Amino acid sequence: MSYDSLAGRTAVVTGAASGIGEAVAVLLAAEGARVALVARRAERLTAVAGKIGAEGGQALAVAADVTDETSVADAAARIHAEYGTVDLVVNCAGVMLPLVDARRADEWQRMLDTNVTGVLRMIGAFTGDLVSAAADGRAADIVNISSIAAHLSFPNYAVYGATKAAVTYLSEALRGEFGPRDVRVTNIEPGFVESELRTHIADADLSRQVEGMLDEVGALSAEELADLVAYATSRPRHVNLRQIVALPTRQA
Ligand code: NDP
Repeated sequence: MSYDSLAGRTAVVTGAASGIGEAVAVLLAAEGARVALVARRAERLTAVAGKIGAEGGQALAVAADVTDETSVADAAARIHAEYGTVDLVVNCAGVMLPLVDARRADEWQRMLDTNVTGVLRMIGAFTGDLVSAAADGRAADIVNISSIAAHLSFPNYAVYGATKAAVTYLSEALRGEFGPRDVRVTNIEPGFVESELRTHIADADLSRQVEGMLDEVGALSAEELADLVAYATSRPRHVNLRQIVALPTRQA
């Protein structure tokens, strides 16, 4: 399927070093968008940008940490200098850490800073762009990758679920603020997706638990999630798919 209206868009994708963010960046670029790639691992971003360039697309690798205000401000300045006004922001950067030890305040904080405040920082950095693109009659989008964990509680993942509930709430509330200015807000809640996300679970038992669930129900591919992002953002600009829940068919 092609998404013609994505040609000429200027996108920023966080979490573009791997998984869903990388797949989104690759697809948007293949459809003719210029894509700024944001994540911490510069070498991974350079590799993704190289892959996009080799296929005739345009991408800019911008190493940044969404938990750091200065890093996000520097990234936004570089993106503005190279690409001008951004009209599509996709927030994929995220971490999922289990609560093995209730005293791991550092891990709670990392999830909150990345999954919630990171999303806010990125939206804050590009609000002016989105509003002005929309005022010029162009499509303008914020896409937040939340999770089905926003609604379903998974044992050991209370904090992660709470961060995703915050993202889902934020998306809905921000629609009320951005919609009247013709900026769409789309919230996507995936179930299991094949990616690096679960490789950060250090505890062997909990890692096996997740692998067991995956073996049972399967997982969507990152490319299948990218397809949903491209679909939602290429509709006519008065059509806002505000909430998409995408699960493997066998996932309850
Ligand atoms: P990945 O781990 O493959 O991707 C996460 C990305 O976020 C990486 O590219 C990582 O790059 C980046 N990232 C992490 N921390 C930061 C940071 N502080 N600053 C900038 N970038 C950061 O997993 P997924 O692709 O699966 O995850 C993408 C999103 O999808 C997440 O929000 C996740 O919660 C959500 N999700 C995933 C599901 C799944 O089953 N996989 C299910 C539901 C939702 P780097 O380390 O280089 O910074």
